[in-house]
Amino acid sequence: MKVIAIDGPAGSGKSTVARALAERLGLEYLDTGAMYRSVTFAALRRGVDPAEAEAVGRLAERVELTVGPDGVVVDGVDATIEIRGPEVSRAVSIVAANPAVRAEMVRRQRAWVAERGGGVLEGRDIGTVVFPDAELKVYLTADPEVRAQRRSKEVTDLDYETVAADLARRDALDQGRETSPLTEAPDAFVLDTTGLSVEEILDAIEARLRADA
Ligand code: C5P
Repeated sequence: MKVIAIDGPAGSGKSTVARALAERLGLEYLDTGAMYRSVTFAALRRGVDPAEAEAVGRLAERVELTVGPDGVVVDGVDATIEIRGPEVSRAVSIVAANPAVRAEMVRRQRAWVAERGGGVLEGRDIGTVVFPDAELKVYLTADPEVRAQRRSKEVTDLDYETVAADLARRDALDQGRETSPLTEAPDAFVLDTTGLSVEEILDAIEARLRADA
């Protein structure tokens, strides 16, 4: 089973890199952040308070999720755009800190890989918790200003200051939570992407894959 884990904070380049790497290697790609965003979307849509741990945990077990190259569908509703919106972004870290939600998402992520015999997975805990035996674990970082700049180019309707503040808040919550906090696996290939192009990042990861083989 060939699993490549790509972890790191928001704006570190994970999504772009994971998607392109999957293509280069002929593997499928899974955005696990989109799964936590989808559970958050489902809670908000049903009027469930994201901080209601028990209710959200139950919801996570029942929700029907499809996260794929054609978009995100949550209980039959196309949520591709809305899961990136400010309401979901504000609430997602609380939902992601919920142990019951994490247990269910990890179960689904492992099932996704088992069905395909491998894949490139992007998230916060892939190398540390979901696939500690991954063939390669990559941990991407970048200067906070660079990450905020990248993110604010994606969300054009919010100003830079708002995006930077949201990023800093989410980083702190993701790194500080009790269950599966964002942290580097001890054997991860840590790559600072500040000032690197996507091509340069991909080449560095592929060189590391070859060196490990
Ligand atoms: O990757 P993205 O920024 O879309 O992830 C949204 C949120 O989902 C993160 O801020 C984090 O709270 C949570 N997340 C997580 N574990 C993952 C992926 C994302 O806790 N594997």
